[in-house]
Amino acid sequence: MSQVLVVEDESAIAELITLNLQHAGYGVTVAATADQAQEAVDGVLPDLVVLDWMLPGQSGLALAKRWRGAARTRELPIIFLTARSEETDKVAGLDAGADDYLTKPFSTQELLARIRSVLRRKAPEALDTPVEVDGLTLDPATRRVSREGCDLRLGPKEFRLLHFFMTHTERVHSRAQLLDRVWGDHVFIEERTVDVHIKRLREALEPVDCARMIETVRGVGYRFTVSAAAQSISLLTR
Ligand code: CA
Repeated sequence: MSQVLVVEDESAIAELITLNLQHAGYGVTVAATADQAQEAVDGVLPDLVVLDWMLPGQSGLALAKRWRGAARTRELPIIFLTARSEETDKVAGLDAGADDYLTKPFSTQELLARIRSVLRRKAPEALDTPVEVDGLTLDPATRRVSREGCDLRLGPKEFRLLHFFMTHTERVHSRAQLLDRVWGDHVFIEERTVDVHIKRLREALEPVDCARMIETVRGVGYRFTVSAAAQSISLLTR
């Protein structure tokens, strides 16, 4: 289930958004101030943030800039909400790092469409769309993983890990990043937990000859790749 953090001080609007998101199958956390929002993000990284511009104290704009400046939250998908429709505000919002921008009043259908669109672009592992990499297919809706007609058995964490890898191929992910994006927690889980699940995932992928797709990048983390060239480099550094 995709987790959305709604940062909105007007409780009626926060409630309306929450009900509609929950109805659409999202998990929702609400924060009424920038401090509360920061606290929520420090705990568990959400899949997406719906961020109101006008908040008491620190503005949504300042909060978005702070998140974009921090390594852990740089890629956090953000949709701005604002009552201001001036072009300069829109530009300022997008400059601050917002992925999209909605002017109040907006329809909840439009908000849901924008959320799906931003997730598709920035966090495809949060959606139920089937993915395929080099013949290996994963269907989040049926939780089925297969290659050439051979079904694989994966535990829930290995499934999420593989889903994240398959939607973010060819990039190196640190253990801390994997904890954030797959476990949703980088504080209370030890980094070696990642190694345990990587090992299990490799074992699960071995029967279809896909264990090789998970590379260990020494001193950095892991990469999911189909590239033969990258594989030979990783063999040298393993
Ligand atoms: Ca407000």
